[in-house]
Amino acid sequence: MDWSNLKFFTTHQHEVPLPEGHRFPMDKYRLLYEKLIRDSVLTPDQIFPGPPAEIHDLLLAHDERYVFGMRDGTLPASELRPIGLPWSPELFQRSLSAVGGFVAASENAISDGFSAVLAGGTHHAHEGRGEGYCIFNDFAVAALKLLSAKRVKKILIIDLDVHQGNGNSSIMGQRDDVFILSLHGERNYPFRKEKSHLDVPLPEGTSDEKYLSALSDALKILPDADMIFYQAGVDVLKEDKLGTFAMTFEGIKSRDRMVFEFARKRNAPLAMAIGGGYAQPIELTVEAYANTFSEAKKNYGR
Ligand SMILES: [Zn+2]
Repeated sequence: MDWSNLKFFTTHQHEVPLPEGHRFPMDKYRLLYEKLIRDSVLTPDQIFPGPPAEIHDLLLAHDERYVFGMRDGTLPASELRPIGLPWSPELFQRSLSAVGGFVAASENAISDGFSAVLAGGTHHAHEGRGEGYCIFNDFAVAALKLLSAKRVKKILIIDLDVHQGNGNSSIMGQRDDVFILSLHGERNYPFRKEKSHLDVPLPEGTSDEKYLSALSDALKILPDADMIFYQAGVDVLKEDKLGTFAMTFEGIKSRDRMVFEFARKRNAPLAMAIGGGYAQPIELTVEAYANTFSEAKKNYGR
């Protein structure tokens, strides 16, 4: 496929107000966009603002009380606290754009083979509540939309963020038209994990070698699917402040290569979200994200 024809979606056009000193690195989305352009991994005309998700699509994965409460800013503080981001109209708009961007990426991947959002992977959002910086669950909304429209029969979620995708699993962990693989830190948030179809908990200090061998074993036993969603969180990097692994840039590149080759071999379209990344300085996270896009380009580009 011609890489320059592939489409990507971003949310950094939404400025979300955060209190001074807030620990969430909101700048990383804009920094990633700028780096991908500067390094000629993507061209500006390939990157589109994530379109706002439709409310009726959100309701495929979330309950009305939560969706409308989030839209109207009427949820009690006790429900907003676990999200870790202060509510604002801009936060709601950005969340719509992130989910809509992933929905668009999943639809484009079906026609083009590969697409991604420069955001997303909001795998801690549950049906009726958000947590861990996640408001609406992009993978659940896109999966349930594609499945209910019969665009695909089975979706494989490969979730390699260091945190378990407890929201993905609470919403979709019992379905037989979705299969969730999660490799994650056993000592990482969330401390109460949900059951996925295949959970691979790994210990603190997991090295490139141990990680890649666990991933290789897991990929071998995955069922067939006609669509893959990839949560490519780079909080597995050893410099990450919220992760417990000890992976290097090279290890993460090998990880990404394994996933892209797996998808190519199985002839399954792949839609990707960047997932978590909280290194200090944040430029390390941005570099890891950019490496993931470069690996995608090597695999999918011509
Ligand atoms: Zn994470």
